[in-house]
Amino acid sequence: MKILVINAGSSSLKYQLLNMEDEAVMATGIVERIGETVGNLTHKAYPDTDAEKKVAKEEEIKDHKIAMHMVLDLITGSEAGVIKDPKEIDAIGHRVVQGGEAFTSACVVDNSVKVAIADNNPLAPLHNPANLMGIEVAEELFPGTPNVAVFDTEFHSSMPPKAFLYALPYDYYKELRIRRYGFHGTSHKYVCNKVAELMGKKVDEINVITVHLGNGCSMAAIEKGKCMDTSMGMTPLAGVMMGTRSGDIDPAIVSYIAESKNIGIDEMDNILNKQSGLKGICGLNDMRDIHSAVANGDEMAKLALDMFAYRVKKYIGSYTAVLGSIDAIVFTAGIGENDDVTRAAICQNFSGLGIEMDFDKNNGRKGEPTPVHTDASKVQVWVIPTNEELQIAQESMALLN
Ligand code: AMP
Repeated sequence: MKILVINAGSSSLKYQLLNMEDEAVMATGIVERIGETVGNLTHKAYPDTDAEKKVAKEEEIKDHKIAMHMVLDLITGSEAGVIKDPKEIDAIGHRVVQGGEAFTSACVVDNSVKVAIADNNPLAPLHNPANLMGIEVAEELFPGTPNVAVFDTEFHSSMPPKAFLYALPYDYYKELRIRRYGFHGTSHKYVCNKVAELMGKKVDEINVITVHLGNGCSMAAIEKGKCMDTSMGMTPLAGVMMGTRSGDIDPAIVSYIAESKNIGIDEMDNILNKQSGLKGICGLNDMRDIHSAVANGDEMAKLALDMFAYRVKKYIGSYTAVLGSIDAIVFTAGIGENDDVTRAAICQNFSGLGIEMDFDKNNGRKGEPTPVHTDASKVQVWVIPTNEELQIAQESMALLN
């Protein structure tokens, strides 16, 4: 079975074609700046086990339909093609960010599913309309091929009301659907299943805290394979500190800044989403730049790093309490997989909770699943590269089978 995974953003389109017989990536790429005067496409294809072909294009890409046409031409073309006919694609799996309460599992797309996805647009105005557009373009270009929607929120739908409700007037939950939904669900699910497999356990035998640290950061408390709590909230702004997002703050700060600085809602939104987090403290949002700055004696970069690690540590502590006991912690995503310094800062002085990192094993970037705990540690600590595309493809395949 060959599955094309699509992640459509408002001006971008990421794709990956997988052969599910051996879960190998046949082609992968990204189209960016769709709708701008100059767009770009980067495509990598693996026609044979050892061969990699790269294609880069820079030209106007007017809309997502044209972008998808370009991808299809590349996948089937002579330059860097991996299949002959689009009909060889058995299914298309779509990342959809917000499933709301309507979707607790992946589903094959039909009209009622599209209506329900659109109904969630107000909850994810930057993502859901683009995801839906990706589905509609795929329906047009691959007639007869099933489309599957896999939701970022779906894995978190097992949270109990005490975890997902905000302590606001209850009517707002009913009327406006204000609640914690959580995000990065496919990533949390993938690494949780993977760590169980690597520990030789069934996922319903272990409690795990998954720590997804990338541009966006989120954590999940997972009891026997079911998410009990997660750090992102109604939107991906909540939780731990991120590259440019504030994470949790006292909500009264918002009106205080708005009044003091005479700032409107849009600007406030921009401050919290784009000017805060690591960037707000030290002016830099990429951890690699922050480490270079720390090495050059930048005190604010050091403070940003300390704050970041402290907040993740606090969540690990609170999720240990939520779960009662934990069997494993998994680090994943750009920072989680590559940044040994940040992982070490998070795991310092944790032996009281049975968490003992082996700092030698932790050293370096981890391109594959790696245990980084001491033999004496009660809790296993792992670094596991995430694979959201594979998770989406696996769910699509399971559904269609
Ligand atoms: P992601 O959103 O998962 O792609 O993660 C992107 C983020 O990972 C970047 O903004 C960096 O902060 C971080 N990152 C990537 N590579 C490294 C590295 N080698 N060392 C430290 N941080 C890294």
